[in-house]
This record gives sequence, C-alpha cells and structure tokens, in this order.
Amino acid sequence: MKRTRTKIVATLGPASSDQAQISDLFDAGVDVFRMNFSHGSQESHRKVYDTIRDVEQKKQRPIAIVADLQGPKLRLGTFEKPISVKTGQNIQFDMDPASGNHIRAPLLHKEIFKAVSKGDMLLIDDGKMRFEVTDTNDDTISATAKTCGTLSDRKGVNLPGAHLPISALTAKDRKDLRFALELGVDWVALSFVQGPEDVAELRKLVGKQAGIIAKLEKPLAIQRLDEIMDLTDAVMVARGDLGVEMPPEAVPVLQKEIIAKARRKGKPVIVATQMLDSMINNPAPTRAEASDVATAVYDGTDAVMLSGETAVGSYPTQTVKMMERIIRRVEGSPSWRKLLAAGQREPENTTADAIMAAAHMAADIIEAAAIVTYTSSGSTAFRAARERPIERIIGMTPNQSTGRRLALVWGITVCMTEDANDMDDMVDKAVKAVRREGIAKRFDRIVVTAGIPFGSPGKTNLVRIARVD
Ligand code: PEP
Repeated sequence: MKRTRTKIVATLGPASSDQAQISDLFDAGVDVFRMNFSHGSQESHRKVYDTIRDVEQKKQRPIAIVADLQGPKLRLGTFEKPISVKTGQNIQFDMDPASGNHIRAPLLHKEIFKAVSKGDMLLIDDGKMRFEVTDTNDDTISATAKTCGTLSDRKGVNLPGAHLPISALTAKDRKDLRFALELGVDWVALSFVQGPEDVAELRKLVGKQAGIIAKLEKPLAIQRLDEIMDLTDAVMVARGDLGVEMPPEAVPVLQKEIIAKARRKGKPVIVATQMLDSMINNPAPTRAEASDVATAVYDGTDAVMLSGETAVGSYPTQTVKMMERIIRRVEGSPSWRKLLAAGQREPENTTADAIMAAAHMAADIIEAAAIVTYTSSGSTAFRAARERPIERIIGMTPNQSTGRRLALVWGITVCMTEDANDMDDMVDKAVKAVRREGIAKRFDRIVVTAGIPFGSPGKTNLVRIARVD
C-alpha cells in the first residue's frame, strides 16, 4: 500500500473514537493517532488505545500513538458572572480563590507573581484580551486592559517571555505519563517546554520506553531551540499557543526555521494546529488552508497534524482525505522534488550518515525503486529520512516498538521482519517487502543498507544493490 511521504497525525476525540471511525481514519491516510490528555479520563484513553491496537492488528501495519500531556496550562479561577472589561480598566489578579468580579480576578498560580514584572503582558483567552502589568508583589498583579473583552471562568492565561519557575510536568502529567507508558504509547508529547531541562526531566521518567516530542509553543523554547533539539527525539510546531505568545506574522517564519533545523539534526518535526480548521464545520477547506498544508509539505516537514478537525469536527474522515489529497498533489509536483533537493543537508561525520549518503546517491544513479533499511532501534531509518530521497524508504525491523515509532517519520514505510540470517536472506527479505508493498516490479533495482553482524543495533555498515527477480 503506497502512502504519502509526509505523514498525517490525527487527534482523537468524541468525533472519532470508535473502531469504525478509527479504521476509516487509518484508511483515509492517518499514520499516527494523538491522544490529548487535556481532555478525557484515563479510562477513555485506555479504550481508545485498545481500539487503535485492534485496528493496527487488522490492518497489519504499525501505527504510532502519541500521548500529549496537558502540561502547566495556566488558567483564571471562576467569576460571579462573566465580567465585561473596557480598554484602560484596571484589574487585580490575585491568589484569593473567591469568585472574581469587575475589580479582581482569581489567578491561583503562585509561581506567576514573582515571574512577571512591570510592563509585561498578560494574555487571556488565547490572547483575545491583553493586559499590561503595572505593578506586582508576592501575591497580586495589577494590570491595565489594553483591549476590551469578557473575563469568565477558567479562561487560559499566557505570559509571553516570562520564565516561570515551574516544571513542564504537573502532578496530573506525571500520573498520565505513568499510565500512558503502561499502555505502551510510542511517543510522549511535552507541552509548554521552556528549556532543555524540561526535556531532560521527562527523559529520566520515559527512558527508552517512548520517543519524546517537545512542543514548541513558548518564545523561551525558541530561544533555546538548539539545546532542546539536541535532547528531544522530535519537535512539534504547536502553532496554537505559539501564535498566542508571539504575533501572527512571527509564526510562519519560525515554522520554516524550525523545520529547517529539525531536518538538519535529523529529528522528526510535526506542524500542528488549524491546518484545515474550517473543516471542523464545513466539508471543504478554505484555499488558504490548502496552501498552509502544502507549504509545510514543500518545506519537508515529517508530519502534519489535525486537532479539532478529527477530534470534534463534523467531517473527520473527509478532512484526512483532503489532507492526503493535498500532500499527494504536492508530492507529485516537479517543484516539490526541486525544493526537497535544495533542502538537502550535508551528512554528519558518522558511519550511518556515510552509508545513507552513499545509498541515496546510488539509488539516484541507478533510479532504484526503493532504499531498504534494516534498522533495530530505528536510528538508521531516521538518518535515511534525513536524506529526504525521492526513492521510497522501507524500514525493515524486527522490533514492534521501533516499527510503530517510525510511522511518524518522513518517507518511511515500515515492514516488520525477522533479522536476516545472511546476505542472501537479507536481499531476499528486502525484495519480498518491496514487491509486497507494490513499490517495485521485476527487474527493478533496490538499494539495501544493513549492519553486519545482523541484529546488532547501531552497526549499519553495508550498502548493497539488488535486482528484484
Ligand atoms: C498547540 O498549541 O498548537 C498545540 C498543539 O497544543 P494543544 O493542542 O495541546 O493546545
């Protein structure tokens, strides 16, 4: 079954949680399902997890599952009633849990008060309301409204630029993480990362049980992107919160820079949020949304993500089909090939990169039908994807967890296989895989990479050209 090189991540929710819906989403082109721990109970997540694994079993294709942890989302407390605020009006934010009114608003996060200074902005309700801080002390912030609007229960609060002395893992996140790892999720996404320490803290808890996706949604994380990229396994351009904390015109530029950096480092990158947002309520997207998806594909992102469109929208399957059509159209265009080649990165000074560069060059010269990569931990397949070759990449692995994790990675079709016994067996298994996938026909050539002795992780040291018989 041929799929697009760019992968599709779909968030599951009330519109998409039963077996038939998940199966339809997979058939429409989803490679990765995201369970959003900001919503739902552990029991509902367990049910969804089991359902995805049932679908995976039926489809005989590894599927990646992401547990997206809520993180320390800051929220207002409650109000006596919704409070209309006029531009220029002063409001005091404080630690008093009593309901708020037209002079004060409860903000029950004590870490905030020391972290903000006069002149900082306090953004409420995804940035719809903006307040400028005029004074602070240990438990109150006085601020002036810069926009009019309404304050109401539990609205989100963003503090762009302020470094909050809090962990990216709340007590709820730690519980959810334990639960998600027990289930066997393949990736864990960490929200509101402020710096590399947050990723290191998660790594201590996750070990090798899952890959880590650092969600880039705070200006501070952008400032420390290199350090974060060095520690994480993948990143997400989380444009929802990023677009609240930074002006809209900054987001497209950052998106391109993050994709370029992730490609250089060989770390998968996901572009997320509002990609086909209007399809939550409409059966067709706006042309601007189609262009947005196309831009991410042209830039060589590993994956594009759907959130509300598949979680709560009225047209979840149609949205995935539309996304798949846009990706397919771009990937069929000569301009995509040119851009992909232009974004090509120099190999690093490692055996794996040397092998992959050689395999890529050989595949181009002989117009190979595929590059087949034997991979145990998945790391060689990540480096193959970093090359962004025009040829299909088959990731052959005996490890189910590796196969599932690779479902997120650009261009990789995963084939589960036993380790090869010898070179003949290696070629034989590779040829069978490309034929089974319908990627190559008789007399086509393929390029195979592997590590000798077989089955030793991190030992890729061989390139072989084989003919499909
Ligand atoms: C985002 O902010 O873009 C995002 C993906 O995070 P969440 O959906 O968890 O708010």
